[in-house]
Amino acid sequence: MLNSKVLKEITQIVGKENVFTAPEDLHCYAEDATLGVISKPPEAVVKPGSAEEISRILKLANKEHFPVVPRGAGTSLSGGAMPLEGGIVLETNRLNKILEIDKENLTAFVQPGVITAKFHQEVEKLGLFFPPDPGSMAVSTLGGNVASSSGGLRGLKYGTTRDYVLGLQVVMPWGAIVNIGGRTAKNVTGYDLTRLMVGSEGTLGVITEITVKLLPLPSHSRSMLAIFDQLDNAAETISAIIANKIIPCTLDIMDNNAIKAIEAASKVGLPLEAEAILLIEVDGSIEAVVEDELQRVQEICQEYKVREVQVARTPEEKIKVWQARRNSYGAFNKLNNTDIVEDVTVPRSKVPDMIRVIRDLAERYDLTIATLGHAGDGNMHPNIVYDRNNKDEVEQVEKAVDDMFAAAIKMGGTLSGEHGIGLTKKPFMKWEMGDDGIEVLARIKNALDPNGILNPGKMY
Ligand SMILES: Cc1cc2nc3c(=O)[nH]c(=O)nc-3n(C[C@H](O)[C@H](O)[C@H](O)COP(=O)(O)OP(=O)(O)OC[C@H]3O[C@@H](n4cnc5c(N)ncnc54)[C@H](O)[C@@H]3O)c2cc1C
Repeated sequence: MLNSKVLKEITQIVGKENVFTAPEDLHCYAEDATLGVISKPPEAVVKPGSAEEISRILKLANKEHFPVVPRGAGTSLSGGAMPLEGGIVLETNRLNKILEIDKENLTAFVQPGVITAKFHQEVEKLGLFFPPDPGSMAVSTLGGNVASSSGGLRGLKYGTTRDYVLGLQVVMPWGAIVNIGGRTAKNVTGYDLTRLMVGSEGTLGVITEITVKLLPLPSHSRSMLAIFDQLDNAAETISAIIANKIIPCTLDIMDNNAIKAIEAASKVGLPLEAEAILLIEVDGSIEAVVEDELQRVQEICQEYKVREVQVARTPEEKIKVWQARRNSYGAFNKLNNTDIVEDVTVPRSKVPDMIRVIRDLAERYDLTIATLGHAGDGNMHPNIVYDRNNKDEVEQVEKAVDDMFAAAIKMGGTLSGEHGIGLTKKPFMKWEMGDDGIEVLARIKNALDPNGILNPGKMY
């Protein structure tokens, strides 16, 4: 419990205008974007304005033993940003400055509360490119992206957030402000603490500055929709494109349930009777190479009995469909009161098998599952849409999720390709990491945060 003395000290650190304790202000912090999980509000929401303030708060938390849950925009889909044990939510939205974009060294230096899409716009104005593009990027923060190592539609060719973080400033649980990694392209000084912190989901430190690498913005891109009458053919096309040594920047799939829900919500002209659509984009800096890839991808689609390939004629045509895809979560939420977005990821060659497993599970457990995903990198997002007030259905969902994770792990895959473990996938961690693997996580956590103040109850 936060007693009045502790609250007074927190208020002295950040100023009273940055501490919120009224129930109506706290209510929404009991949730993030994860549906079907119930938590309780924190005792206070605190919005610090500097690393020094965060350091003082963490020192106090260690002394008084209250939990601190770092939070960006709260778009986590694994319950990562939910407080479980009271204490404070530490929101980073005042730390929202792009401190520097270094054109000479192709790096940028930002605070964690910067909105991802805003950062994209600023670097692109300079002809530069920061590829990680989670579907939530219009609202998500770079700090949340780094803490979750988020991916996105461009992950296949360009990788995920992890691949772009060069250095970090982190406030450690005991209050030390440390700078790890750096600004250089190469850095092997000491353990790779930067990698440890990326994806640590707010459990090992509070990220207060981020140095990322940038790329030149590709000058040419072509995008298309490949429409299939058979889901299996679409799945086989994904493997065939990559086996033909073409790496599109986007290679996403939508099954029929996804197509219908997205079309109903966005009205972008998707064919409702198609069993699957692939969203494909090729890009690069040499127009002839991009055009050649476009041609070859179309030929592969033909080999696998595509019904039609629609190549976008204008950037607006592409944006319309890509935007609808990004808004798909809202579309699925209209189908019922709960949508669990799973995140199973398998080796690319196993994508057709995983798609079949998901389809069979929907049938076996009589569930609505709308699947889309960054299929080119094996990352599937089956959306299980159900009524959380129907106990029988909830049981069926739980069984389907168990079976889905078991199948993914058996195929050499993983529980989460990009959404993180947080709360919802915690029970399954042992399946993938085993007891010894979990013990390594526990020893790292205990060494860095022996009082367990940072985001307790998450990850393992
Ligand atoms: C519509 C929608 C689409 C999405 N699409 C994608 C997608 O394509 N790819 C993908 O990977 N994810 C996706 N997500 C999930 C989510 O948006 C990402 O995980 C995102 O990176 C979270 O950012 P955030 O600012 O909202 O972080 P939050 O949800 O606030 O926090 C996420 C985690 O990071 C920790 N954290 C936040 N800030 C800090 C900090 N400064 N220091 C330490 N820890 C911190 C939190 O404690 C929590 O564990 C989607 C979510 C939604 C709702």
